[in-house]
Amino acid sequence: MKYNVLFVILALLLCATAVAAQKPTYGHFVYLPMVVGSSNTTLRPTLVAPTATYTEIFVPIPTPSMTPTPTPGTAILPTSTPTLLMPIETLTPIPTPTSTAMPTSMPPSPTNTPTQTPQPISCPVQFDFDDGYESTYTLAFPILNRHGCTGTANIVPSFVGKSGFMTRDQILTLYHAGWAIGSHSMTHPYLTKITSERVEYEVGGSLAWLNGLGVETNYFAVPYNSYNNNIMAVICSYYDRARISWPNEINQAGADTCIRKSVFTISSTTVEELEAWVDQAIEIEGELILGFHRIDESGVYNWSSGQLEEIVEYITK
Ligand SMILES: [Zn+2]
Repeated sequence: MKYNVLFVILALLLCATAVAAQKPTYGHFVYLPMVVGSSNTTLRPTLVAPTATYTEIFVPIPTPSMTPTPTPGTAILPTSTPTLLMPIETLTPIPTPTSTAMPTSMPPSPTNTPTQTPQPISCPVQFDFDDGYESTYTLAFPILNRHGCTGTANIVPSFVGKSGFMTRDQILTLYHAGWAIGSHSMTHPYLTKITSERVEYEVGGSLAWLNGLGVETNYFAVPYNSYNNNIMAVICSYYDRARISWPNEINQAGADTCIRKSVFTISSTTVEELEAWVDQAIEIEGELILGFHRIDESGVYNWSSGQLEEIVEYITK
């Protein structure tokens, strides 16, 4: 009996050990496959689809071969004239323009005509003022007017209305006061450094622009004096006269050519030097064009209003 009891106890211990050995031990292993890299897909945790809503934003990818096309701005002209397209450009002070933008089309042909024919220049010398600076209107205009003279304002349409330059109304005021208005190209480029198509635009487009403003002209002042035979042929197909600015020279009497020479002032030019040119022009009965840029402003092309008054007095005395 004693052995029986011991046997039973031993049997119970064996059973307990066996049961303990059969307890599942893989319960922890079920979750271990969360370790990255497990190939057992059945053990991966279930992903819950996100409930957030996404908005797709389409961003075009530029094509490498794509070339930027300038977007022409709209230039508002007086109410009686058609709206013309011209480039809006960042104004770069003369003489370092950086714009190379070229509109894709020429301005439309104007439909209106000038309301008043400008009076002929009353002085024996032609006064040219290039680029359309505001000082042409505020300083040169009253000085010449005091002495019964008119001048020629050579306009760059893309400069018009910008700070330091004349407005459309000021240009028209000069024109209706008897001044001649000339073209000085659309954007003041070096005409020898641009394509022939662009030359056509600069030369012909500026004429169309001025006509659209209500101004008639047959005069073109070559920007930077940058020209060659081909360019002059283009200019002279649009205008009767094409003014160059170097070397300083008087146009011979009777010369009937499109190319017009001139004598240009810079800040170092003296009144006496211009007086000598005037004397020589009178002596040979030649046509003298005196060229100016800024009046009473900074820069190598500046000339003072006092100097201008002196030379005008000398010519008209
Ligand atoms: Zn110029």
